[in-house]
Amino acid sequence: MSIRSVTWSLFCLPSLVVAMASVANAQLPTGWRAHDWDRAEATVVTPGDAALPVPPPSDAVVLFDGKDLSQWCDNEGNPAKWIVKDDVMESVPGSGYVFTKQAFGDCQLHVEWSAPQKVEGSSQGRGNSGVFLMGLYEVQVLDSFENRTYADGHAASVYGQYPPLVNASRKPGEWQSYDIIFHRARFTADGDLLSPARLTVLHNQVLVQDNVESLGPTSWLQHYQYSNTPEQLPLSLQDHGNPVRYRNIWIRTLKENPRPLPTTPYRTDVIQLASSELDGYVGEYGNVRIGREGRHLTLNMGGRPMELIAHTPTNFSVRYTAITLQFEHDKDGKPVALDFMMAGDTSRMERKVDEPAAEIEQEEGMEEEDMEVEEDVEDEEDMDEDDEDDDMDDENNATR
Ligand code: MG
Repeated sequence: MSIRSVTWSLFCLPSLVVAMASVANAQLPTGWRAHDWDRAEATVVTPGDAALPVPPPSDAVVLFDGKDLSQWCDNEGNPAKWIVKDDVMESVPGSGYVFTKQAFGDCQLHVEWSAPQKVEGSSQGRGNSGVFLMGLYEVQVLDSFENRTYADGHAASVYGQYPPLVNASRKPGEWQSYDIIFHRARFTADGDLLSPARLTVLHNQVLVQDNVESLGPTSWLQHYQYSNTPEQLPLSLQDHGNPVRYRNIWIRTLKENPRPLPTTPYRTDVIQLASSELDGYVGEYGNVRIGREGRHLTLNMGGRPMELIAHTPTNFSVRYTAITLQFEHDKDGKPVALDFMMAGDTSRMERKVDEPAAEIEQEEGMEEEDMEVEEDVEDEEDMDEDDEDDDMDDENNATR
């Protein structure tokens, strides 16, 4: 090796290492190349007996009920060229994809399909079609019953990206179902990807895609990056040259913000009472107990004590649960009762006597007759408490 070549090597080595590293990193997040024949095919799982067709719920948009293709069109908006026969719609080879006239984003989709009973072709040429969410993300339809193909091209794969977790295919000619939960990709106002599209798929009631993040729009051979897309786009079904049949297709639009934040968030009017003041509240009220832990009161209802937040000297709430306590004080400022407010109901709870020494003195001074009356009253109170405890248990059980 000449000096020149050694020098050249030393000079170029760092850039070569960088180049090699970038090549090594140029792979999909899954670590697999699309359509890799070496990727293990999903294990076969025989699905249970299916009760098909599955009727649509009341809020579903029925996209095909066996009558006609009024909800569908071709890629130019013209009438779809697939055929409807015997209450099913069938892909006509060469007729092109069909698209819903209505656009959808986040959704729950139910599709029933059947590969041709007469087995023709092999691998990707056998019973191939596809369900394209937003026309972009294909959940593969394929006759995957005893049909060797690449793992990410099997039935219920997110095509070219994620093989199904298991192969739950039925025999060709039998009706199969997909239940798909789809969340669209989100983008910033500048069009940058905020969160990728996500898919959950049940194939014949077997989970085969568990909230996977799509790597981008699916494709044969290509890897497409995300680009900003509308919030809703038509759903499409693929014509891949095989007469695949479909029936009973319905879809539920999922709300963009299904769990809104409360309009009245956590209260901020919080005060801190001195420990000596807090101790004045400690005691039994009806069937709850007020305790103190450090610098806050607790509400004890039989389980773990719940932290109480003081809003005023009379008004407290449980930190994480929608329970409010409104205390009543006597003329000396001592809490003597509380209103327990939960789930739209208010229960008044009287404070029990919590001074045993005073009680003993009183009882010693009582006449025997008075003692008997008091015992009767205590028995009745015990029974009332038992009833209240039962009511509380029933309420707790009802709300679990
Ligand atoms: Mg396909």
